[in-house]
Amino acid sequence: MKQTAKALVTVIVFTVLLLGGLLFINRGSETQATLNIVAVNFPGYDFARAVVRDVPGISLQMLVSPGAEVHDFEPTPEDIKAVKSSSLFIYTGGESDAWVENLIKDLDDTKIVKMTNIVATVEEETVEGMENSDEAEAEDEVEIDEHVWTSLRNAAKIINQIKNDLVEPDPRHQTQYEQNAKSYTDQLASLDQKIQSVVKNTTRNTIVFGDRFPFRYFVEDYDLKYYAAFPGCSEQTEPSAKTLAFLINQVKSEKIPVVFYLELSNRKVAETIATATGAKTLELHSAHNISEDDFEGGRTYLDIMTKNLETLEEALR
Ligand SMILES: [Zn+2]
Repeated sequence: MKQTAKALVTVIVFTVLLLGGLLFINRGSETQATLNIVAVNFPGYDFARAVVRDVPGISLQMLVSPGAEVHDFEPTPEDIKAVKSSSLFIYTGGESDAWVENLIKDLDDTKIVKMTNIVATVEEETVEGMENSDEAEAEDEVEIDEHVWTSLRNAAKIINQIKNDLVEPDPRHQTQYEQNAKSYTDQLASLDQKIQSVVKNTTRNTIVFGDRFPFRYFVEDYDLKYYAAFPGCSEQTEPSAKTLAFLINQVKSEKIPVVFYLELSNRKVAETIATATGAKTLELHSAHNISEDDFEGGRTYLDIMTKNLETLEEALR
């Protein structure tokens, strides 16, 4: 009797240990990411998030903090470590990402998506009335306009590249990646159609920004004309009297109903123009970065661009 009880206890203890061990191993393999994706800013993060939807074992990280000024971004030592150990690294490739090039030079095991290499780029432009940085003029430097993702068509190309760079190291989930990419790019294509039809069905084709202007690729897709206070990545926030007067005059003479400001902007220039002209101010969101609340709430690039269509419609009325 005593012997049997002892044997029983031994069996129970052994079984518990064995099950525990199996559970532990199982949990280990579930949480261990097979692919680490690191994106510098929100567009890359959003595109990758859409492509890996419902695929297990993926870790995805955005380096720029939600709500932060993207042009001031400096990587921390942890960020650098994350980039070096990533399986896929996504960045824009413009002036703001100048820190990247040296870092990724000898990364052999990392797939790299550089957005400005995937699409046709244009140089940053200074249009009539726009504040020109004296610095840029003095050095006569022309930068690539890095805001390539503001074109929905460019976004689709970038998404497809991300998909290809995930299928290669992880062919087991090829179908899932392909379905996800197709679903997202189909939705972007349908939104693109809607924007085209809004632009086609209005007589107005000029928009005014009392702000920086990162929408070059967007307006080129729809043949829109624009005036803005500053170029795309400008650090300037105080326009000259001449720039203000020019923009106010354009809004008045063309009876432009809406003056745009950017996301995370102090809106001051747009409000000054609006007060002087009676126009209203609205946000056109470039998706360069999003607020903490939007990030937590899972707001997507598609959500942002869908809202932009609504706003644009009002501005072109
Ligand atoms: Zn920028």
